[in-house]
Amino acid sequence: MITTDVENYPGFAEGIQGPDLMVEFRKQAERFGTEFLEEWITEADLSQRPFRLETSNYNINAATLIIATGASAKWLGVPGEAKVPNGYGGHGVSACATCDGPLPGFRNKELVVVGGGDTAMEEATFLTRYAAKVYVVHRRDKLRASKIMQEKAFKNPKIEFIWNTGLEEILGEPQHGVTGVRLKNLQTNAERVLPCTGVFIAIGHKPNTDLFKGQVEMDEVGYIKTSHRSTATNIPGVFACGDVQDSTYRQAVTAAGTGCMAALDAERYLDHLPVVTLEGDEVTIEGEHLTPDHQAIIEPDGTIVANKTTVLASTKK
Ligand code: NDP
Repeated sequence: MITTDVENYPGFAEGIQGPDLMVEFRKQAERFGTEFLEEWITEADLSQRPFRLETSNYNINAATLIIATGASAKWLGVPGEAKVPNGYGGHGVSACATCDGPLPGFRNKELVVVGGGDTAMEEATFLTRYAAKVYVVHRRDKLRASKIMQEKAFKNPKIEFIWNTGLEEILGEPQHGVTGVRLKNLQTNAERVLPCTGVFIAIGHKPNTDLFKGQVEMDEVGYIKTSHRSTATNIPGVFACGDVQDSTYRQAVTAAGTGCMAALDAERYLDHLPVVTLEGDEVTIEGEHLTPDHQAIIEPDGTIVANKTTVLASTKK
């Protein structure tokens, strides 16, 4: 987790730091016997059960799988943004203020943050701890950020907003990294150069689903599709929760909520009970399908049987 100030997670009246919240989550899960394996998954085969996941050190076979890979920062795609040597990425350009903001090269300098959402407000606020001044460049004249985050940014004397403006290019020199940005007023088309030492791109995120492309059903952006009534994906036994399947709410609390749903769905599935699928019918681990009206069961071999319980007893007349 790269979020610093979490202001809206329930139970923390004064807010909490993202990394501290994660440590608490982990300790709580460990108390219930959860084992953690810190590995990069390089391949996933979800075509049959057990599902197969590969890392450089392990082959993992899973009876059920919960995908909670989240979403990553998006980039503008402007000249100068790419990683060194093609741009100044890593040499003044970043998408993570928490990771890079405290670096000596940014201290007491003028910095630019691009975006108008909570991420941009959070990054700008965080950067004022170290920077001399932070410019927030936003393409509209209204922020998308929540009220509390907006107000914090508006009240901060080190933050200045540049409205209705696009960042066209990041300027720099190979030895010194970023030296400025070329801005364009989107109402007048007037361009100008704003000198700065760092640029933080904070314009949203892309779901981390490349590993599962072509296997799990996704929307056009790459968010995993889940059933409206459960966390089931199109593959029975594969569930998805958090930002990887939620392009609307994207909050820590909603991610935690859908994480709980996915755990219950997976548990139910492993207990041979039916879980709701993407299409609205229900499926068991044995591959039986229960129709949405609960009238029929379609067996794995295609046989259709009525979903009626045998009457074991009846009242005497
Ligand atoms: P958002 O999608 O909410 O905001 C993205 C911002 O970037 C918007 O202002 C958007 O402009 C702008 N933008 C997007 N693409 C471009 C582009 N190509 N060029 C210029 N500007 C662009 O993403 P966030 O990451 O800010 O937030 C995502 C979710 O996470 C939200 O629900 C938020 O509440 C939550 N969050 C909560 C935090 C907290 O409570 N501490 C911290 C961080 C995030 P426009 O407005 O014009 O569309």
